[in-house]
Amino acid sequence: MDDVMIVGAGPVGLMLAGELALAGLRPIVLEKRPEPSELPKANGLGGQIVELLDHRGLLERLSEGSGFAGRPPGFPFGEVPLRFAGHDDMPLRLLLIQQPRLERLLAERAEQLGAEIRRGCEVTGLAQDAEGVTLELSTGRTRARYAVGCDGGHSTVRALAGIGFPGTTDDEVLRLGHFAGDAPGPFEDLPVQGLRPGWNRTPTGRLLLTSLQPGVLIAGVRERGAPPDGPVTMEDFRAAVRRVIGADLPLGEPIWLSSTVAQARLAERYRAGRVFLAGDAAHLFPAGGSALNVGMTEAANLAWKLAAVLRGRVPAGLLDTYEGERRPVAGRALAQTRAQVALERAPGEDGAALRALLGELFAYEQPLRHLAALLHGSDTRYPPEGERAHPLTGRFVPDLRLSTVGGERRVAELMRAGRPVLLDLRDGPGEALPGPHDGIGPDLPGGGWIDVVRARCAEPPADVLLIRPDGYVAWAGTDGLAEAAREWFGTEPLGVRATPA
Ligand SMILES: Cc1cc2nc3c(=O)[nH]c(=O)nc-3n(C[C@H](O)[C@H](O)[C@H](O)COP(=O)(O)OP(=O)(O)OC[C@H]3O[C@@H](n4cnc5c(N)ncnc54)[C@H](O)[C@@H]3O)c2cc1C
Repeated sequence: MDDVMIVGAGPVGLMLAGELALAGLRPIVLEKRPEPSELPKANGLGGQIVELLDHRGLLERLSEGSGFAGRPPGFPFGEVPLRFAGHDDMPLRLLLIQQPRLERLLAERAEQLGAEIRRGCEVTGLAQDAEGVTLELSTGRTRARYAVGCDGGHSTVRALAGIGFPGTTDDEVLRLGHFAGDAPGPFEDLPVQGLRPGWNRTPTGRLLLTSLQPGVLIAGVRERGAPPDGPVTMEDFRAAVRRVIGADLPLGEPIWLSSTVAQARLAERYRAGRVFLAGDAAHLFPAGGSALNVGMTEAANLAWKLAAVLRGRVPAGLLDTYEGERRPVAGRALAQTRAQVALERAPGEDGAALRALLGELFAYEQPLRHLAALLHGSDTRYPPEGERAHPLTGRFVPDLRLSTVGGERRVAELMRAGRPVLLDLRDGPGEALPGPHDGIGPDLPGGGWIDVVRARCAEPPADVLLIRPDGYVAWAGTDGLAEAAREWFGTEPLGVRATPA
């Protein structure tokens, strides 16, 4: 019996496959499409996932040729601009990358690490018992100890596992197109006066005009109504543009046309027995920018826990923390994206006044920082463990600059191998165990799998940080450290004194 079957080779399934393979498993990805998808869905990643990709040493490669990677100077929140210029330490990070390229690179990484991707293989049935999950496939049948549904918003796995997906469906349809040619411009030349890059509002809907790469214009039309019965045609797209702005636009040759109706949904559970959900299979957000951040960080959360349980390091109870930690994060993303939709939709002069007033408030640093943290996910704190918990426990680890025996390092560089790291900041640089942190390390003698790094840091936030493979601090401080290490990782870090000398 295989260890883990992942259903769906979208970004979340592929991220999960890479993380599981990094942890030493050989996951299998079952994907119904015979070929990788070329659908230009997401244009980028925003939030903590960018930091996590940095932890894995993937950021440089994914950023190659990217229009932007770093802290953005601004971001739209329900069409109200957040202006970060002048605030260099705002948490939000952004990486522009087209979804097909993201999927290609994640697939390459997963396969290089030992994952197998079986394309043209649709999951049609599912049954589970005490030992494992049996999946019926278009190509036969397979069995694994765990299955993860990363099969998107229409998830078959979710339905077969009997997990409800409550929420709402929008009453507006968005037609989206990519067209060959530069963005029409100057915009003053267009047949309709006053059109500008970005969203344009009219009494009958909204028109988006933008471009994220040279030679490709992106146009979107949002209006009340249902999607067309069949695929969107150029004629249908032009008619929608006319309904919204009352005129035709010179759009160029269509490269890709689609229509979507936004949904706001959250799975009732993230787990049914040995079956888990992640990504769009678990949540759909009605406004853009958060889906991949939440979905791909979910994959990282689940991967190390599954690997630790399957390798017998910790009891299976650790897997319960997946839903406990991640469903509230998705719930919060759902709430903020719903709020964005309400802001966008608020009609007429009342709506314009509301957006203008919030625009004034968002110019103040505190609300700006609050929203940046919300969009990024840096306000996430996994349930803190009682009074003894240090403020960093349960938080994503800060990217501290460190002096180690190997030279100057950032915390992110210690996380390449996807293993727990015990960062001891008490006595300055010392021998790093087992190092180097650039591959899959063997287990330490005695069953320890925690990398121990002794380092100096200008302003240590705690004496010791015990960092989980997904970048969250399992424990900060020395008091209670050994218990935390046993609880999360089933072992105590070797070679570390529990109390200062
Ligand atoms: C136009 C558009 C723009 C977007 N822009 C952004 C953006 O800028 N930023 C952002 O974060 N998000 C964006 N999103 C959302 C983002 O694309 C999705 O959140 C993302 O694709 C979800 O990834 P996933 O891996 O969970 O699911 P999916 O990408 O949907 O992948 C699911 C995979 O499962 C396969 N599958 C389905 N059923 C089965 C089955 N029964 N058996 C086997 N395989 C199956 C499918 O073929 C598919 O390959 C956008 C979406 C759209 C439509």
